[in-house]
Amino acid sequence: MCFLKLQDFKNKSRIILALDFPDYKFSMSLLNSIQDFISGVKIGLPFLLGVGINKVKKLISAFSKKLFFIADLKLADVSHVESLVIESLKEMKFSGIIAHAFTGISGSLEESTKRAKELNIQVFLVVAMSHIGAEEILNRNFDHLLKITIKVDADGCIAPATNPTYIKRAREYLGEDYLILSPGIGTQGAPPGMALKNGADFEIIGRMIIKSTDPINVVRDILKKQKDALKIGE
Ligand code: C5P
Repeated sequence: MCFLKLQDFKNKSRIILALDFPDYKFSMSLLNSIQDFISGVKIGLPFLLGVGINKVKKLISAFSKKLFFIADLKLADVSHVESLVIESLKEMKFSGIIAHAFTGISGSLEESTKRAKELNIQVFLVVAMSHIGAEEILNRNFDHLLKITIKVDADGCIAPATNPTYIKRAREYLGEDYLILSPGIGTQGAPPGMALKNGADFEIIGRMIIKSTDPINVVRDILKKQKDALKIGE
């Protein structure tokens, strides 16, 4: 069986849609209309809890041929618990998961990332966050969290577009073999293309698209701005 990786979608689009608001009908119809313009969907805990496991499974199976699905439960636990969650997410047909890096290697990420690999699930670790409080603890340990990303051989990391210095530093440290996914575009303040320009591979975008009255046009506009930022095809 051939498992597509997130990097295989890079030529299609650099947008990953963040689904957090638990509205199943709206989300199905939104994905119907924008599936050709985005690469993946990041499903957050509010969506999963709100619409329920069965409907999330239905949504994934309806679009899994065209889109890469990432479960954003921001895992932060001991290894056997993280592994059990990863097994359930595999059952639901997710292809990627987001976990915190701060739980460390031994007894947590070392084993759970191994389990994810066995199941062909890609792992993306949170190495910095965008909100102000992140500077209190999490972001102060940024370099160490990047080291953990490499040590456990994760597939990539999550770094905020609102503070692109983190993206630049992550790219410098990780090189080209790791993906960088970046939220914070639109509602949180960063313009589309900002993360890509600074070295990210994908921009994770939620409310800017979901809360718009004309999502297709917003997506088209984002794509144009991303293309300008990357100077693709010029
Ligand atoms: O709606 P908006 O585009 O702000 O959504 C951003 C998404 O990215 C949310 O699902 C949020 O959980 C996630 N995220 C974030 N900052 C991080 C990590 C994840 O905003 N550092």
